[in-house]
Amino acid sequence: MDGMRIDLHTHSNVSDGTETPAGVMAAAKAAGLDVVALTDHDSTAGWDQAAQRAGELGITLVRGTELSARSRGITVHLLSYLQDPSYQELAEMMRRITAARWERAEAMVAKLAAAFPITWEAVAARAGSGRPVGRPHIADELVAQGVAASRSEAFERLLHPRGPYYVRYWSVEAADAVELIRRAGGVPVLAHPGATGRQKIIDDGGIGQMVAAGLAGLEVRHRDNPPDQRKRLAGLAQRHGLLQTGASDYHGTGKPNRLGENLTDQPTLAEIVRQGAIPLVGGDSWAP
Ligand code: AMP
Ligand code: ZN
Ligand code: FE
Ligand code: FE
Repeated sequence: MDGMRIDLHTHSNVSDGTETPAGVMAAAKAAGLDVVALTDHDSTAGWDQAAQRAGELGITLVRGTELSARSRGITVHLLSYLQDPSYQELAEMMRRITAARWERAEAMVAKLAAAFPITWEAVAARAGSGRPVGRPHIADELVAQGVAASRSEAFERLLHPRGPYYVRYWSVEAADAVELIRRAGGVPVLAHPGATGRQKIIDDGGIGQMVAAGLAGLEVRHRDNPPDQRKRLAGLAQRHGLLQTGASDYHGTGKPNRLGENLTDQPTLAEIVRQGAIPLVGGDSWAP
């Protein structure tokens, strides 16, 4: 079917989006999407609520996760689609990364608290116990205290990786993460690989290592990949036989990214479904 609107990267307040998983499904329906993936950072806790609401709304849900990883000292984000949520080794990895996120956020807030009115208790409460806390939660508290005007401004001025308040956190080696996602039956796609505005990006050799480990695709069409990077990534995808996806990386009101601003085509989704361990759920707008 032509004109299917498929957006394969969104966040709810299970991680650092501003809407509940059900709210993201409602927003996706309102944006005219046929298929949407929920890909919270290092968590699958939003899946059940999103699946139920997607069913009620008649929109198709791809259950996924955005896993934090590293490649040669660079942080990379790895989307995992349709993995078996009961596969313990991956669930344990997400708990481990979440624990590292909590240590790191507390360390960043300790640095910030020396200069600004911000407390760890307030930031921790914004994330919610056991959930993957991130810099956006710190940003929101800085906004609430009048230190920053918006999440984006807090990132640009105070929270970026080269700033004095940044602290790194432990995460899994990227090629190991690809293998782990495959063992869990998931389909690993490298998120925003050409996001030059954030930090040093992964080079062709780093992507090659992930390909050798079983990488399925590259998120080519993402607002943080500039045109020259999209060209490079499309070339790499062709050379290595990788899928090419497009997505919004929607975070509700937390980022300017709008649902459906970048899309994935239907044959690509069909291939992801073919490779994944669990089915699409929700509305019957589309079945592969
Ligand atoms: P963390 O996982 O704690 O390192 O924070 C990264 C998260 O912050 C990602 O989900 C990004 O989408 C988000 N992020 C990065 N830069 C910005 C920005 N300029 N404005 C708002 N959110 C951002
Ligand atoms: Zn995020
Ligand atoms: Fe990301
Ligand atoms: Fe994301």
